[in-house]
Amino acid sequence: MALNIESIGVIGAGQMGAGIAQVAAQAGMPVYLNDVSPDRVNAALATINSHLSRQVARGQIDEDGRKAVLDRIHIAPTLDKLGDCDLVVEAASENEEVKRKIFTALRAFMKPEAILASNTSSISITRLASVTVNPERFIGMHFMNPVPRMQLVEIIRGIATKDDTYEAAKNFVLRLGKTATMSEDFPAFIVNRILLPMINEAVYTLYEGVGSVESIDTAMRLGANHPMGPLQLADFIGLDTCLAIMQVLHDGLADSKYRPCPLLVKYVEAGWLGRKTQRGFYDYRGENPVPTR
Ligand code: NAD
Repeated sequence: MALNIESIGVIGAGQMGAGIAQVAAQAGMPVYLNDVSPDRVNAALATINSHLSRQVARGQIDEDGRKAVLDRIHIAPTLDKLGDCDLVVEAASENEEVKRKIFTALRAFMKPEAILASNTSSISITRLASVTVNPERFIGMHFMNPVPRMQLVEIIRGIATKDDTYEAAKNFVLRLGKTATMSEDFPAFIVNRILLPMINEAVYTLYEGVGSVESIDTAMRLGANHPMGPLQLADFIGLDTCLAIMQVLHDGLADSKYRPCPLLVKYVEAGWLGRKTQRGFYDYRGENPVPTR
């Protein structure tokens, strides 16, 4: 029978980890939030608080509700504090070495029936599972950004993932009020396999001088009815994450059509990673975003 998930641990308190912690706490579950950087945990709690305050202002929740959600989120300074969680979702940086080290360290602490999930955008779930103590209870849970607003969670089964692990993960997604899709474990799964080559092509379009940042984004918003232009979306996702996903597609599928655009590499090398560093294809330091090319 599928495990009933009653408490969750979240590793990585960045954009995604903060969102996952928020939606789980809003669904009534105690959450234990871990990050290597205490500053990121504090920033995550401040972000969650500001989202909840906005919900209070809109009359979606009341003040007691806001406090109750915050009270359910506990800081876990070290991984041993995740030992009682039914589900641990890893949402640390998109770097295979970082994730492997976390899973290796977690071995000593997780209870045997608990499920371990990675929010990776693109790394092989089967390969990540191989360093865990229990690959049958390992699964990909790919939340979308921003987590509180986006309806989809892609669930990715590794080669060893057991049916009851998949069922438990799917029930957890339903409990969050979201929709799950199932994807097989191939590079970048479904959403990013399709989305990232489009973003990379938009960067090539900019690189080759076919259009400016503004004309590319306007063209895709008004011409293809996309809610955001591809470069605006890239800034939103984080250009380091976009590049990492293109590299996974390029390495994993060995097809030159997935070659990361050199201009994307240049932005990442400059540390212009998009919204999270205030500069990417747009500069966000002023009142309104200004294109950087
Ligand atoms: P982010 O850079 O905002 O946050 C990553 C966090 O991980 C940072 O706070 C960092 O301090 C922390 N971290 C790094 N090493 C750690 C360790 N050893 N232990 C604990 N914490 C550690 O990145 P993000 O955008 O939140 O992405 C996190 C994960 O979610 C990645 O795997 C990414 O591919 C995936 N993801 C991102 C998006 C997106 O749009 N940004 C969407 C879906 C999935």
